[in-house]
Amino acid sequence: MSVQIAVLDGVAKSYGGTEALHPTDLVFGPGVIGLLGPNGAGKSTMLRLLATAMPPTAGRIVVGGHLATGGIADRTAARRRLSYLPQEVGIPRRMTSFGFLDYIAVLKEWKDREARHREVLRVLGLVNLEESRTKRVSALSGGQRRRLALAQALMGDPDLVILDEPTTGLDPEQRASLRGILSLYATRGSVLLSTHQTEDVSALCDRVIILDAGRIRFDGTVPELVGLAEGQVWVGAESNTGALSSWRTGNGEVRSLGGAPAAGSRRADPAVEDAYLLVRSDAKIGEAR
Ligand code: ADP
Repeated sequence: MSVQIAVLDGVAKSYGGTEALHPTDLVFGPGVIGLLGPNGAGKSTMLRLLATAMPPTAGRIVVGGHLATGGIADRTAARRRLSYLPQEVGIPRRMTSFGFLDYIAVLKEWKDREARHREVLRVLGLVNLEESRTKRVSALSGGQRRRLALAQALMGDPDLVILDEPTTGLDPEQRASLRGILSLYATRGSVLLSTHQTEDVSALCDRVIILDAGRIRFDGTVPELVGLAEGQVWVGAESNTGALSSWRTGNGEVRSLGGAPAAGSRRADPAVEDAYLLVRSDAKIGEAR
């Protein structure tokens, strides 16, 4: 890979006795990288480590050529190259949308007032909140607050944009619009996002990483991931015997993943979700051994 925007080198994190992330090596270049995994897999832990919100137990992290796990000067230089949307953002309720973003921009060292205000208005526009710019945070809906939190992560020109479940609380139109925005950032930087939405992954991600119990179970492209489920999805009048999952679809047929196909069934195209469920199931079998 030619451009290395972020590097994890033997990075691990444990909280007391819980090993949330086992030693991990990863290199991120330009593009959108999706992190998938069940709750408790270690996704937020990986994102918080990269955002320098906490130090790893072991290993080194480099962002934009600066050692994020180094001393204060290196860490600050790395922080200047990244932005981060945590899962929960506490925004002071009495601030206005504009005031909050302006405050964050000051913290991000935007000194020129005019340029700063232009940037605040730009990101308010990106998340469709220009009309609420003078509203206090206490008067915003949950979805609007989430978009305001997202706006601060879109500020400036970071090399690495880290987003913890950015599509939570967005309606389908807002999700589509976010995909457009992120794909623009990803032409030169890395966008690393965690999500539970397999549709986001298929629509947007150049690369998918599946984490489970603090270990990487898959790392590849969407077609490579979907390819794992090739020949394993069937539709017919009955469910497959021993299917991993099956349900009756809108047209009355049963769609099954895995297992032995029932008589008269035919193969269907797999989706990201099918492959994800297979990888999860393999991980569980591996752990039970
Ligand atoms: P995910 O984002 O995939 O849901 P997390 O990274 O939040 O997973 O959590 C990974 C594991 O680490 C879980 O077992 C979780 O309970 C544990 N964990 C996360 N944060 C803490 C913390 N601050 N203290 C103790 N354990 C934690």
